[in-house]
Amino acid sequence: MSGSLVLPTSAGYAMDRLLYNSKFVDLRPQAIAYCASSDDVARCVDFVTSHGIDVAARSGGHSYGGYSNSSGVVIDVSRMASVSVDTQANTATVGAGAQLIDVYNVIGKSDRLLPGGSCPTVGIAGLTLGGGIGVFGRKYGLTCDNLQSIGIVTADAKYLTADAQNNSDLLWACQGGGGGNFGVATSFQFGVHVMPEISLFTLQYPWSVASDMLGAWQEWIVSMPDEIWSNCQLLSEGTSGYLAQMSGVFCGSLAELNSLLAPLKSAMATPPIGNFVGSNDYVSAMEIEASCSGLTVASCHLPSQNPDGRLGRSAYSAKSSYVNGPMTTVQLAQIVEAVVNLKTHAPTIGGGLAFDAYGGAINRIASDQTAFVHRDKLACIQATYSWSTYAPTSVIAAGQTWLTWLGSNIFDPLTGAYQNYIDPTLVDWQTAYYGDNLAHLERVKSKYDPANVFSFAQSIPVWS
Ligand SMILES: Cc1cc2nc3c(=O)[nH]c(=O)nc-3n(C[C@H](O)[C@H](O)[C@H](O)COP(=O)(O)OP(=O)(O)OC[C@H]3O[C@@H](n4cnc5c(N)ncnc54)[C@H](O)[C@@H]3O)c2cc1C
Repeated sequence: MSGSLVLPTSAGYAMDRLLYNSKFVDLRPQAIAYCASSDDVARCVDFVTSHGIDVAARSGGHSYGGYSNSSGVVIDVSRMASVSVDTQANTATVGAGAQLIDVYNVIGKSDRLLPGGSCPTVGIAGLTLGGGIGVFGRKYGLTCDNLQSIGIVTADAKYLTADAQNNSDLLWACQGGGGGNFGVATSFQFGVHVMPEISLFTLQYPWSVASDMLGAWQEWIVSMPDEIWSNCQLLSEGTSGYLAQMSGVFCGSLAELNSLLAPLKSAMATPPIGNFVGSNDYVSAMEIEASCSGLTVASCHLPSQNPDGRLGRSAYSAKSSYVNGPMTTVQLAQIVEAVVNLKTHAPTIGGGLAFDAYGGAINRIASDQTAFVHRDKLACIQATYSWSTYAPTSVIAAGQTWLTWLGSNIFDPLTGAYQNYIDPTLVDWQTAYYGDNLAHLERVKSKYDPANVFSFAQSIPVWS
C-alpha cells in the first residue's frame, strides 16, 4: 500500500478505530487501512476476499448504525480527499474521503456550489451514496442527483468507472442505494452550479404556538419557489426549555427573501421572538448551517481529522420518517405532544423533531430514475436525541424508549425512512429505504457483488 495500515498494536489505533458517534465505543477492527489510491483499495479488497475477512468502507465515519466499522478490515478513504473544479465543464472531481466543509470551501472558491448536507465533517461518500439532502436541495436536487460519474473498486478488486455510458446500472445504484453496498468508491464527479446570491433566515416562536408554526410552515413551503429551502425544528433543549424554529436558505436577494417570508409571518397570529434575515457567502452560509460560525475552515473539523479541528464527537440516536402531504391539526398537535413527552420522560437530554423540506428539483425526478425512491414527499422528519458522555444509562434508555414509542405511534411506516439516517432498530428497512427500487438494487448487487463481500446488518441483499 502507498497509504498506511493501523493495527491494534499501532500507536494511533485507540483514536483511529473511532467513529463520529461516541456511543460506538466497542469498535475493534483487525486493521484500519488508510488507502491513498484506488490501487490501495483494490489490494485491500483482494486481501480480504482471499482470506475471508470482513470488510467495511469508511469515509467521514458518521454512519448512524456504525456500519463503517468492521470486525475485520476498515478501508478508510479519508486520504483520498482532493477536490478540483472545472469551471468550463461545471464539474467537480471529489475524492471519496473529502469532508463536506472542505468540498464546499474548494468548490466555493471557483464560484460554484454543490448541494450537500449540513454537517461539516460528514464524508462525501456516505452522503452521496445514500442521497444527500441540504439547503440547496429544492433548487439543485440531492447530492446524488448531481453525480455524473463514480470511480469504485468492486468485490472482484477491479476499479470501475460508472457513468451514463459505462456500468450505468452501478451509477444508478450509487445514486441513493446506500453506502457500503456495491464496492468502495474512491472518487466522484459531480455537476456543479454557478453560485447564486445567497440569503438566510431564522424565525423563532414561543413554544405555546409551536403547532401553529409547523402548520403555517407546511402550507407555506409548498407554495414557495424552488429557490427557497427550509426546515422546521421542534426541540426540547433539556433544562433550557423548548425551541420552535424555522430557518432556511434562499438563492436570491434579501429583498426577495423578505417578501417571500411575508406570508409565512402573517400566517402567524403571534410575532416571532427571534427574527434573523441576512445575506451571506456560500462557505459562511454552510458554516452557519453547520454551527461552525466564527471558526476557520480548518477548525471546523474533528481534531482527529485536522490538527486545528475544534469540533467534538457526539452521542445520539435517531429515527426518520416522511410527511407525504400537509398534516392535519390533530397530527400537528401530536407532533408537539411528542416533543413534550421527550422532555417529560428525559428532562435533561436534548432532542426532538426536525422537518426538512423536499419538493422542487428533488421531487421532479422520477422515483425509479435513481435508486433514491423518496420523490413525492413534502418533508423528511428526523427525530433525534443526544446525550453527554456523563449521562447515566437510565437517561439514555429513556431517550431510546421515546424514540421507539415515536416510531410505533407517531411515524407512519408506510411513508418510508431516509437511508442516510440509517436506523438499526427499523424492522422493514428494505421497503422503508428503497421501496419499489429494492428489486433493481438487489439485481445490481448480484451483478457487482455476487458473494456479498460488502455486507452489514442493513446492506442490500443479493438477488435470489
Ligand atoms: C451530525 C450529522 C449531520 C448530518 N446531516 C445530514 C444532512 O444535512 N443531510 C444528509 O443527507 N445527511 C446528513 N447526515 C447523515 C449522513 O449523510 C450519513 O450519516 C452518511 O452516511 C455519513 O457518511 P460518512 O461518509 O460520513 O459516514 P461513514 O460512516 O464513513 O459511511 C456511511 C456508510 O457509507 C459507507 N461508505 C463510506 N465510505 C464509502 C466508500 N468510499 N465507498 C462505499 N461505501 C462507503 C460506509 O461503509 C457506511 O455504510 C448527517 C449525519 C450526522 C452525523
